[in-house]
Amino acid sequence: MKKYDYVIVGGGLFAGTFAYFAKKAGKSCLVVEKRETLGGNLYCEDVEGIHVHKYGAHIFHTSNRKVWDFVNSLVEFNRYTNSPVANYKGEIYNMPFNMNTFSKMWGIATPKEAEEIINRQKAAVKGEPKNLEEQAISLVGEDIYKKLIKGYTEKQWGRDCKDLPAFIIKRLPVRYTYDNNYFNDLYQGIPIGGYNVLIDALFEGCDVELGVDYNENKEKYNALGGKVLYTGMLDAYFGYQFGKLEYRSLRFETEVLDEQNHQGVAVVNYTDRETPYTRVIEHKHFEFGTQEKTVITKEYPTDWEEGMEPYYPVNDEKNQELYQKYRTLADEENLLIGGRLAEYKYYDMDKVIESAFQLVEKELQ
Ligand code: FAD
Ligand code: UDP
Repeated sequence: MKKYDYVIVGGGLFAGTFAYFAKKAGKSCLVVEKRETLGGNLYCEDVEGIHVHKYGAHIFHTSNRKVWDFVNSLVEFNRYTNSPVANYKGEIYNMPFNMNTFSKMWGIATPKEAEEIINRQKAAVKGEPKNLEEQAISLVGEDIYKKLIKGYTEKQWGRDCKDLPAFIIKRLPVRYTYDNNYFNDLYQGIPIGGYNVLIDALFEGCDVELGVDYNENKEKYNALGGKVLYTGMLDAYFGYQFGKLEYRSLRFETEVLDEQNHQGVAVVNYTDRETPYTRVIEHKHFEFGTQEKTVITKEYPTDWEEGMEPYYPVNDEKNQELYQKYRTLADEENLLIGGRLAEYKYYDMDKVIESAFQLVEKELQ
């Protein structure tokens, strides 16, 4: 039977980045992926000539020049800039929180007026913010917290904003300028031709087995390779022996609509508590599509249970402590690990690539 230098568990971005450099270094790789497709959460499906982001909308953004040069060496990127809008009971606000949002919320025009209102409203929070609610109010005040953050966040994470860590909301920029760009990063875009072009380039030259759960066939695959790189859930690898880590999952409802332009923008967030989904994605707008029809996806957050896709790690203290126990076991057996699941981190794509670069440096150079 053929032997490999690396058996790579998972076909996502971390795995692909490592595999790319492993092949360049003359190593042979076998990729074992549970799903029927490579690419992890980046994978896109072609529907009506539109690239549908099957596992959630993905916008590439980074300030890391090395990461940007790397992905651009594999595929060209378009000039898409993410500028979602929030819909609160029919009222439309620009995101992220900026002068357009403040102007619509309070009928004001200048940064000074916005600052005065926010400073007044944030006085309710005394001392360092202790949770997401306090963090949000101290960033943008009570009105924006109530209309644009509280409902969305509680749907997304399935718990009260007082029981969530402050860092989640710090991901979003707050700007006293009329700038609707959702990200502060220097570089951003969508691969021309879709993410699958990037995925194909990353895994070119690897042997691939799809539809296989490594954890159910460990012995067989361990016998094939020199080393295993594992990018799945670490608690699953160790048979959940200390208990299960928590994740949030998502259910996607995708529809083809017989109209050209449904919502005029790629992403609309529904920020009230009652609408059961958090956002509606209209995929064609990521690539300035002009197709006759359009495809939209509603995103419904749910609790994660075994057998579902574990989209978001729940990075609270309890889960971090549990994760550390599994991490110690992984270190003891010198298991190579990486990515959003195995590192149990709320990583964006560029951070996943950075993390893979570190492993490449340690392992291959
Ligand atoms: P994954 O993509 O999860 O890949 C892991 C792979 O391993 C999966 O394919 C899985 O099926 C496979 N696997 C797991 N266990 C096993 C096993 N036992 N055997 C075999 N295979 C296994 N990032 C951005 O930068 N911009 C965005 O706009 C953005 N939007 C996002 C939207 C959503 C809804 C989500 C959930 C994430 C988003 N991200 C975004 C983050 C991005 O998806 C991740 O950073 C990136 O895809 C993680 O890559 P990965 O390789 O670590 O993990
Ligand atoms: N968020 C919010 N209202 C919005 C959009 C985001 O309150 O309209 C909060 C919410 O808590 C979310 C966090 O900001 O979990 C980070 O949002 P981001 O868009 O970065 O989430 P992701 O794309 O990772 O799902």
